[in-house]
Amino acid sequence: MSAIEVTGLHKTYGNHEAVSGLNFSVEAGETFVLLGPNGAGKSTTIEILEGLRVRSKGDVSVLGHDPQSPTREFKSRIGIVQQGAGDLGRLSVLEIVKHFASLYPNPRPVDEVIAAVGLEGKSGQPVKKLSGGQQHRVDVALGLIGNPEVLFLDEPTTGFDPEVRRAFWDVIRGLQAEGMTIMLTTHYLDEAEQLGHRGGVIVAGKLVDIGKI
Ligand code: ADP
Repeated sequence: MSAIEVTGLHKTYGNHEAVSGLNFSVEAGETFVLLGPNGAGKSTTIEILEGLRVRSKGDVSVLGHDPQSPTREFKSRIGIVQQGAGDLGRLSVLEIVKHFASLYPNPRPVDEVIAAVGLEGKSGQPVKKLSGGQQHRVDVALGLIGNPEVLFLDEPTTGFDPEVRRAFWDVIRGLQAEGMTIMLTTHYLDEAEQLGHRGGVIVAGKLVDIGKI
């Protein structure tokens, strides 16, 4: 069984079809990239897989589950990186990551996750006082802390400067080396080439090309 299977996926908003019949699968340990311009349907697709949006038609399976009716166990096996997840007032990086760790049955070690996103020197600092790029790394840490089998990243480096982007890519390469399954969306061709094992180009809700990168 593939880690992710998508068959005939459609999503309609009113009378606008944002996703028009997607078919793809992602194998365990693979990084699959959906590459496409703004408005192509990337966020809609990844949020359906995360269980955050309801599909209009088609079948979706993530780790053998339908994300639309998630169990607590299923939720603990996927990681979602959400912008602003770590924006919790005056709490420090360490306090926030520790708090999230307490919500999962088998969290990764807190210090290890903080080091994996390159924030070991900042762990005592309030998240509020970090730069935008550093705050985003806290969001990534919160996506990782539950030790997910599948990690979802929606346009993870949009707005990053080149140096922060490269550092982020290194974090992802470390997770790939551990065998994590990763689903990534991006509108940057170089990011797809740097990180993707396989992927597809999505335009106006349709996959126009799919294959090895
Ligand atoms: P991408 O992530 O590739 O930029 P989206 O999935 O966000 O694309 O959007 C795909 C299309 O669906 C766009 O035309 C967008 O305007 C539309 N859309 C997205 N979310 C909604 C929504 N909640 N209601 C109505 N239209 C939406």
